[in-house]
Amino acid sequence: MIVIMKQAATEAEIAGVESDLKRMGFMPHRIQGVERVVIGAVGKQTVAFPVGLETMPGVEKLVPVTAPYKLVSRQFIETNSIVQAGDLLVGGRELVIMAGPCAVESEEQLLTIARHVKAAGARVLRGGAFKPRTSPYSFQGLELEGLKMLAQARSETGLKIVTEVLNPQDVELVSSYADILQVGARNMQNFSLLRELGRNGKPVLLKRGLAATVEEWLMAAEYILAEGNDQVILCERGIRTFETATRGTLDVSAIAMVKQLSHLPVIADPCHSGGHWNLVLPLAMAAVAAGADGLLVEVHHSPREALCDGPQSLTPANFRRLVEGVGRVAAAVERSLQPVQEAEGVTS
Ligand code: PEP
Ligand code: MN
Repeated sequence: MIVIMKQAATEAEIAGVESDLKRMGFMPHRIQGVERVVIGAVGKQTVAFPVGLETMPGVEKLVPVTAPYKLVSRQFIETNSIVQAGDLLVGGRELVIMAGPCAVESEEQLLTIARHVKAAGARVLRGGAFKPRTSPYSFQGLELEGLKMLAQARSETGLKIVTEVLNPQDVELVSSYADILQVGARNMQNFSLLRELGRNGKPVLLKRGLAATVEEWLMAAEYILAEGNDQVILCERGIRTFETATRGTLDVSAIAMVKQLSHLPVIADPCHSGGHWNLVLPLAMAAVAAGADGLLVEVHHSPREALCDGPQSLTPANFRRLVEGVGRVAAAVERSLQPVQEAEGVTS
């Protein structure tokens, strides 16, 4: 439910409504709009509809949120939310490209790739230090050493860092090195991890689970917002279907759907979905045409030697071609690859 306050509501009236909501078992989330305050009230399903709240001083009206997810819903916030990591804004007019190797392998590998992706127009460097591998015998990542290499690459290039965190115990450590914390597809419903990220407050990149419905994905995001962190970027990375010709099926319709259902930014990962480097450009262009706010792309200077996901990684030259191609689609849908000054809609 959303409590819409009158334009002239005083601070005391707003605080009065918030404390009444708490007394009735709701958790109030205040949103300061340009003209008025709205209060999102979420509570367990057993909490009764707050009779009498409508007549409290300062209250204009109550609007029920019919979707099962509340704080992530567009019924709750109508405008696009922008996630902010320093001077980087995700969800505005600028499309944000995040690129880098699947896994951090060495200082030299990471810096080489970081320089290439920066020169081509990426704003964020990706690279896993903790890798969720299907086989326990595959390379699991450089862990703390990898995080240090990412921080080093940030200070040398100025790129922001996105990297995966696998479990709640590591959230504090990873957040002390990263600008954006990635939740991988296999962890989308790791609820204790989601709650810890909600309490941590750093921006989160939440990948869609391999077989998650749009509703399950949005409910996972709701866990993070319910703990007080509204800095969530959703990432469509391909789902498992009957099709075996590609590694996954990029669900382009989910990108368009989620942009309608939620105010959160949505980006696409055309590498894990297609599973092959020569599908990355067309899938990236399709995602941007469908409304994606950015891309997460794997790049390696020597894909054949990559310790992880080489076949779906772009060479630096192919990455430059991708940025050019995506730039043309961006212009057609009135987006830009250049940083754009946005004042409106910044949520933090
Ligand atoms: C990755 O980004 O390298 C990764 C492991 O992705 P996903 O969780 O989507 O499989
Ligand atoms: Mn990968």
